[in-house]
Amino acid sequence: MELPSKTMERAVRELSRLPGIGRRSALRLILYLLRQGNDRMENLASSIQDLGRNAQFCENCHSISDSPKCSICSDPRRDDKSICVVEDIRDVLALEKTNAFRGKYHVLGGLISPMDGLGPSDLTIEELVNRIKSNNAEEVIMALSATMEGDTTAFYIYRQIGDLSIKLTSIARGLPIGDSLEYADEITLSKSLQQRVLFESTLSN
Ligand SMILES: [Zn+2]
Repeated sequence: MELPSKTMERAVRELSRLPGIGRRSALRLILYLLRQGNDRMENLASSIQDLGRNAQFCENCHSISDSPKCSICSDPRRDDKSICVVEDIRDVLALEKTNAFRGKYHVLGGLISPMDGLGPSDLTIEELVNRIKSNNAEEVIMALSATMEGDTTAFYIYRQIGDLSIKLTSIARGLPIGDSLEYADEITLSKSLQQRVLFESTLSN
């Protein structure tokens, strides 16, 4: 049923478009915001507007950044020759927390998932291949989730770059990483990075 207030109806409709938020939750959030007062709502609206205007994808690694190049890619102490391939920025944050990786990242922006209509061309795989070639990368580390989508994506990338003379590795999977790197604790993640294995050796399983 439409709400009697058109302004409220619009806000509820916009919020309920977000993943995991149904109409009921949207209405609850709107009522909460109304009780918080105008300042709070203005702040929220302007922060989202700011995000839309200023956040961009790093031209090098495709992570989210306020400038054309993110802080990790701009850091001269980070090794250009070692590229860690991840699904999204949450994995970058999880790996950065371990302090175990001093190379640079490549953010794919998702995983190959035919069920969700996501194919290789929806991800930054071509950019990855170009980057490996132009940087003369020495090692590419796959740090993708241990799911069917993660495995499919890793295999697709392997097919694209297997012929290049680089060391292609994968973070160790024997450790209980679960579905997403985001949920792994720092010690586990740091260990799985240190005990990474040659990607080809993972294919026989
Ligand atoms: Zn970057």
